[in-house]
Amino acid sequence: MASEMYFLILLGIFKISLRPTRKRHPVSTSPIPSALPGVVAHAMVREVGLRDGLQSIATVVSTAHKIEWINAAYAAGQREIEVGSFVPARLLPQLADTAEVLAHAKTLPGLVASVLVPNFKGAERALECGADLMVVPLSASHAHSLANLRKTPDEVVAEVARIRALRDASGSRTLIEGGVGTAFGCTLQGEVAESEVLRLMQALLDAGADRVSLADTVGYADPASVARLFGKARALVGDRLACAHFHDTRGMGLANVYAAWQAGITRFDACLAGIGGCPHAPGASGNVTTEDLVFMLERMGVATGIDVTALLALRQRVAGWLAGETLHGTLWQAGLPQNAAPAALREAATA
Ligand SMILES: [Zn+2]
Repeated sequence: MASEMYFLILLGIFKISLRPTRKRHPVSTSPIPSALPGVVAHAMVREVGLRDGLQSIATVVSTAHKIEWINAAYAAGQREIEVGSFVPARLLPQLADTAEVLAHAKTLPGLVASVLVPNFKGAERALECGADLMVVPLSASHAHSLANLRKTPDEVVAEVARIRALRDASGSRTLIEGGVGTAFGCTLQGEVAESEVLRLMQALLDAGADRVSLADTVGYADPASVARLFGKARALVGDRLACAHFHDTRGMGLANVYAAWQAGITRFDACLAGIGGCPHAPGASGNVTTEDLVFMLERMGVATGIDVTALLALRQRVAGWLAGETLHGTLWQAGLPQNAAPAALREAATA
């Protein structure tokens, strides 16, 4: 009797553990790079639509709508949001309300609210406003750096050292992320040498950045170049390379994310509805699309903590505020596959 029950229990366990993977998900979720067998892989998707997206389009979204966006993204499970940029309002009127939007984001428990700061003055404001993280952009392309920031890359490194000293003197806990842009080339200069990207990334850390990220600002990367550069960068600085930022300008955004994931990266920037663009290519798509990226990761068995159905609903709301703007992304057109909701995929991955 006892052995029969034991057998039935075993059978029950066997059934429970196999049912979700076998019947509902014929596509294997097994090639997941995780530390231990059976441990579920996780990734963080950082929403940058309110900064990278909105700064590149003409429509100015109201502060009330930005707050609605942040609340809905938070409710959907997003826990890292770049809420704006501390740049002069005359340069980017779309982001003039960053301090107000940040103040609201800080009221949401557990949300990491970041801002972009192009210089020391912006960093002062980020510290005053208590941002959790500030991203200081550096362009690895000398020509792009001079055109966009009016500084050489090494002058930006020196600025980061001053920002670090200011942060430490203020006793603030705001993290500093050095964002190395045009890491795969740029429209002004063409090629950017990998050795130069790696040198500047290390220089940012030596100057006091807490961590660094690599960005394909203009959509020049491909999965092979991503695997190569991120592999070398990880070998050099390990987990201090904290994020990958891809634009989908030429349709390779998600493929590039996958290549970076394979290289060990677990945080990715993305824009809801793929908004944004490229100043040199009118109509071009912006960052990788948040909802498509979350769907891809969950489909791979990588937990993001984000409800993609809620993201699709939010996309519709945001689309209503951006009438006339070109939106991007693919998932919203076809919808989720039947019987393959991401929640079910998570369940399968943990079984
Ligand atoms: Zn960008």
